[in-house]
Amino acid sequence: MTRPHVNLIELRGLKKHYPVKAGVFRHAVGAVRALDGIDLDIHRGECLGLVGESGCGKTTTGKAIIRLHAPTAGQILYRPRNGATDTTLDLAVMSRHELKRQGVRGKLQMVFQDPTTSLNPRMLVKHIVAEPIRAQERLGSRALEDRVLELLAMVGMTRDHLLRYPHEFSGGQRQRIAVARAIATHPEFLVLDEPTSALDVSVQAQILNLLEELRQRLGLTYLFVTHHLLVVKYISSRLAVMYLGKVVELAPTGAVFSHARHPYTHALLSGIPVPATRPRGGRIVLSGDVPSPVNPPAACRFHTRCPFALNICREMEPAMAEVAAGHWVACHRHAEVERLVKDQFG
Ligand code: SF4
Repeated sequence: MTRPHVNLIELRGLKKHYPVKAGVFRHAVGAVRALDGIDLDIHRGECLGLVGESGCGKTTTGKAIIRLHAPTAGQILYRPRNGATDTTLDLAVMSRHELKRQGVRGKLQMVFQDPTTSLNPRMLVKHIVAEPIRAQERLGSRALEDRVLELLAMVGMTRDHLLRYPHEFSGGQRQRIAVARAIATHPEFLVLDEPTSALDVSVQAQILNLLEELRQRLGLTYLFVTHHLLVVKYISSRLAVMYLGKVVELAPTGAVFSHARHPYTHALLSGIPVPATRPRGGRIVLSGDVPSPVNPPAACRFHTRCPFALNICREMEPAMAEVAAGHWVACHRHAEVERLVKDQFG
């Protein structure tokens, strides 16, 4: 019997707009709608993959959740593990001071794409990993070093690495150091922002295995941001597909690969270069670039690139609908998409 899930994070109508300024006086003349109403639940203990093309808002979603960015509107509801059972914090409205006072900063962390730029090149490994611990708790130097060694061991590194600089390591080792730093404050949620895409293919699997091992061992919850569906296929239990600041499909990973219901998801799957892993149906090649998030298309935002668009798609925005258990999609033609893909591209 499967246990009912508990939501660690709930996003409700989350928006992040960046003003576009022009002229001598830098007046706001518009806004980049990086996130334009995201509703998403992240279950405690899961790895949720967040996929889509560059510029669709994936990374902005991750940064908004851990409050590297303040959202423009909406809620970011967080239920801390050690809070009272009814404790729910709305991170969207908390000040920096309040986030620190409630201990939220250490509980929600991020691993960035490129460890070459995310690690300070002038700091020794022992100081890189110790820095976030010092910001959270007072430990004597011996206890601090023991904790740093423990963290390095968790990511497969040793005492020999303590007194070295980031440039002395390979890309994979640097990402291990970044992971050690991210878990140093006993977090319960990590945003993993393309954590393997700057690495050689041979090293990617090692980092994915490490992340999965740590998730199980430490009871972590992940939001895994990537443009590469195959990377998250083996580590994510569910996938959310984003297009132009909105989630358009959310489903268990297996259902995305076998029965995607949104044409955009089919197009992303078509881009996977291993035929055996593609869903049934043919290859959809999208024409044109992603439209500007400053002035996104009305109604269904995908209609300018969708091979199956009808008049209704240009007139009415499709609502998210649950089409199977845990499988949500926003498309007027979701019931016929699999057949349409097969007929037109099979
Ligand atoms: Fe395509 Fe219409 Fe579905 Fe949008 S609503 S994805 S335009 S079929």
